[in-house]
Amino acid sequence: MVDKEAIPCEVCGKFFDSKTVMKKHMDYYHNEAGNLEEIGSDKTRSQYASKKLIILATIGILFALGAGGGVYFAMGLSSPSQAGPTIGGIQCNTMEQLLFHIHAHLDIFVNGHLIYVPPQIGIVDDKCIYWLHTHDSTGIIHIESPLKRDFTLGQFFDVWKSKLNNSSSFNEILGGKVVPIVYVNGNKVPSTVNYKDVKLNAHDEIAVIYGTPPKSIPSKYSFPEGL
Ligand SMILES: [Zn+2]
Ligand SMILES: [Zn+2]
Repeated sequence: MVDKEAIPCEVCGKFFDSKTVMKKHMDYYHNEAGNLEEIGSDKTRSQYASKKLIILATIGILFALGAGGGVYFAMGLSSPSQAGPTIGGIQCNTMEQLLFHIHAHLDIFVNGHLIYVPPQIGIVDDKCIYWLHTHDSTGIIHIESPLKRDFTLGQFFDVWKSKLNNSSSFNEILGGKVVPIVYVNGNKVPSTVNYKDVKLNAHDEIAVIYGTPPKSIPSKYSFPEGL
């Protein structure tokens, strides 16, 4: 991990091959006038902030150019929040975001058989956790985001589909392009509504049905206390 990736100088934004070289540059260019000590003062803080913006812009350009997956990887990990590719507007943050925290329950049936909803959908081990995820295999979808907004079934499926750390994807399980019939709390979603647009509300019981429907369609789920 030492001295591998490009290290930006916090003061001027220049990139260096190693921490050692960057430190030498710091000592030589930014220490004699006492710049570093003054970083806390208002004047230098704004200079510092603008330098930081330049660094961020530079990183952004690097990303855009796709110049160096190593840089992307290193920066992605050290970034305070976003740490994985955004999927359909759903971010992957380094910590669970609990400002908005609700749960819905998902049952998927294929020709009457209940399909396994794996744990850890949307959780990338040691890296990040998507706003839509599962922790266990109960079918409970955790909706945990830093902002209150609508989330949809389609977004959850997109996170699932993208595989991440899961061995089986949604497409593999269902093996096709069949459009499901969806029930929310026992009420059939009209066929004029795209099933992907079904909103995830707190304590919704969502049944997604492919092929022959099951004998009875679940209309509610007993969530554990606290969820
Ligand atoms: Zn969670
Ligand atoms: Zn949760």
